[in-house]
Amino acid sequence: PIYLDYNATTPVDSRVLETMLPWFTEQFGNAASRTHLYGWEAAEAVEIARRQVARILGATEKEIVFTSGATESNNLALTGVFEASSKKHFITVQTEHKAILDVCAYLEKLGGEVTYLAPDTDGLITPQQVSDALRPDTALVSVMWANNETGVIQPIRELARICNERGVLFHSDATQAVGKLPVSVEGIDLLSLSAHKLYGPKGIGALYVRKGTPLNIQMHGGGHERGRRSGTLNVPGIVGLGKAAELAQQTLTQEAERLAALRDQLETQLLQQIPGTRVNGSRISRLPQVSNLAFEAVDGEALLINLTRIAVSNGSACTSASVLPSHVLKAMDLSDDLAHASVRFSLGRYTTEENIAEAISHVVAMVAKTRTDFLVM
Ligand code: PLP
Repeated sequence: PIYLDYNATTPVDSRVLETMLPWFTEQFGNAASRTHLYGWEAAEAVEIARRQVARILGATEKEIVFTSGATESNNLALTGVFEASSKKHFITVQTEHKAILDVCAYLEKLGGEVTYLAPDTDGLITPQQVSDALRPDTALVSVMWANNETGVIQPIRELARICNERGVLFHSDATQAVGKLPVSVEGIDLLSLSAHKLYGPKGIGALYVRKGTPLNIQMHGGGHERGRRSGTLNVPGIVGLGKAAELAQQTLTQEAERLAALRDQLETQLLQQIPGTRVNGSRISRLPQVSNLAFEAVDGEALLINLTRIAVSNGSACTSASVLPSHVLKAMDLSDDLAHASVRFSLGRYTTEENIAEAISHVVAMVAKTRTDFLVM
């Protein structure tokens, strides 16, 4: 099938893989080995990657902590601040990824208090909402840069500015934004990212930590990463993340334009050809390569089964007993039925015009088929 699920994960770019390969075999050294060339070379490769990651964020090298991915980065950011601060109130948004919401639920168990801001029907929150929710005991505000399901981009700059003015730390889960949008850490204290969303390998990511941010360690051990995250460094992964960041930065503007054109083509055609189709989320403040569409009068599960020629997803979390509607779409006031009947199309580096043409005709045919089956049932 045609892969249109780049928000779930991306393939490793062959140039990234090539850069990584020697670090598995000939140059297998431990970056913490200080006594021989194997270690020195690995340490140097890590520092080159650190510079590449810092550069794409407008950060300095010392502010980059390598982790196992965005889930770990989010855990380190939120729990690290919670433990380091005497303030115990946090603010986040209902449409965050589980890797934020579940950490918040954990902090609540530890005695923290969390305010979950409700987005409007476009999936957006306002600076005013954050401003109103701030309290004297607020330690941190965490708002994702771009949503993984809808692509909706939050007004991060203004949110960060309010937090700066009020002396509250600001974290952003930028996993879906880095490599797709110009992201800079200006005004931001903590920022999470993950390599596998930008054509790097899985299981490696980073947390940006502004110099001087109080943060308790979550992974105790040998004192790697300036004591902030222990564990022998994943040198090939780190090298891959660095290369992936560099490549993304080089082509960001052209790729965003190319993908927005393909996405718009897909979206416009589906809206035109399928009656009862609507776009989930702001069409103005949105990632260039995502379209989340709701198809009225369709059994969402049946539709996904019928869509055999494309690989897409909906935001539903499958549990053993039931398929829950997406919490993101629910927070935007969609009914359970419409949330179930929503499909996320996410395009990427290897998506072609032919792919999009084929996807359009397939989706048109399969929505029609699913609707007929639906009526017969
Ligand atoms: N945050 C967001 C917004 C994501 O889209 C993802 C990916 O699923 C994650 C966090 C988790 O990232 P990782 O797979 O690197 O732990």
